[in-house]
Amino acid sequence: MINGEQELAAPLRWGMVGGGKSSQIGYIHRSAALRDGHFALQAGAFDLDPAAGRAFGTRLGLAPERCYATYAEMFAAEAQRPDGIQAVSVATPNGTHYAICRAALLAGLHVVCEKPLCFTTAQALELQALSEQQRKVLGVTYGYAGHQLIEEARELIAAGALGEIRIVQMQFAHGFHSAAAEADNPATRWRVDPAMAGPSYVLGDVGTHPLYLSEVMLPELKIESLLCTRQSFVASRAPLEDNAFTLMKYHGGAVGTVWSSAVNAGSMHGQKIRVIGSRASLEWWDEQPNQLRLEVQGEPVRILERGMGYLHPAALADDRIGGGHPEGLFEAWSNLYRRFALAMDATDRGDTARLARLRYPDVHAGVQGVRWVEHCVRSADQGGVWVRYDDPQTCRP
Ligand code: NAD
Repeated sequence: MINGEQELAAPLRWGMVGGGKSSQIGYIHRSAALRDGHFALQAGAFDLDPAAGRAFGTRLGLAPERCYATYAEMFAAEAQRPDGIQAVSVATPNGTHYAICRAALLAGLHVVCEKPLCFTTAQALELQALSEQQRKVLGVTYGYAGHQLIEEARELIAAGALGEIRIVQMQFAHGFHSAAAEADNPATRWRVDPAMAGPSYVLGDVGTHPLYLSEVMLPELKIESLLCTRQSFVASRAPLEDNAFTLMKYHGGAVGTVWSSAVNAGSMHGQKIRVIGSRASLEWWDEQPNQLRLEVQGEPVRILERGMGYLHPAALADDRIGGGHPEGLFEAWSNLYRRFALAMDATDRGDTARLARLRYPDVHAGVQGVRWVEHCVRSADQGGVWVRYDDPQTCRP
């Protein structure tokens, strides 16, 4: 159970790049990092517009001299201070992640980066090598993985409750961009610009989320090959897709699908994962994250509720209030940020035993997401052909 007790000798001194006043994702980073007192916000380069970034930082309570115009200026100046930041979160558009993460790691900082980690597998592997060389954590905010019932799903599957795993059906398919919302929304505009979004829109923006959930629930399942088809229903988005279907064959015979979409008109979020075995299936939907459906063939459906004593201890470890009271995305992110902090602290102390017990979306998860998008794009751009998936060992959540 999480109850706000301090688990580190002192909070990690923390900074942010991006996540400025009008950003979509900045506030949940701050809320999650600050929730349990494991991080203390000390510095930031919050905005592309330096004046706006400084004004925002001071409104957050930071000293004006620690609100920087650029991330490069922040990393250089903080490195000179005895009380300089130890960790930084990167909440900027995709096209900046690689350079900022690289600079942060070289400056000796632990990093939490938004997804997708970068554009190419080669870049992602370079960041992985750099984080290992610098002995720094590089976490990725696949925030839904912090929901407690994801742990219950993992444990049920590991215990054989579903039988032999046959099918994994995934989707993250919302409807918010059914029309050309980018015309008057800057945060949507960069998402459909290859220079800022990368080689894909929805595959990287939403598809990688349920993909990571499947990696947590099914750590043994490795992709053998995949086929992807992608479309731009709002034609001006081409070559980037606003809808994509991916079919996957796993080593050992199981199969999977991922539907990634921003044009599922009427859908609020539409992120689901259904794992189907030879005797039972389970299903989790991010719009009802406190419930997990367990469907045993021939028996009535069971709805497992978050926070209840019948769950596996791993699914109760992050409970904050007990069953019945709904928890949500902010708690899920807080759970992940707590694990990021514990991992950073254990890394700094060389506590390998502690690190081995911690699971969080780390740099390997970041690499895997980038690798998956790259393979999907390669398949789709060849007309939707099967492509072999190299290096199944990359991911080890
Ligand atoms: P946004 O456009 O709403 O905000 C981006 C922010 O970054 C702005 O404040 C902007 O001024 C700032 N910025 C841009 N370049 C900068 C730079 N070089 N230095 C400092 N600040 C800079 O974008 P968003 O929707 O918040 O998305 C940001 C990232 O978060 C993206 O990578 C996106 O994929 C990711 N995201 C993740 C989730 C999730 O569930 N994990 C959800 C939404 C967005």
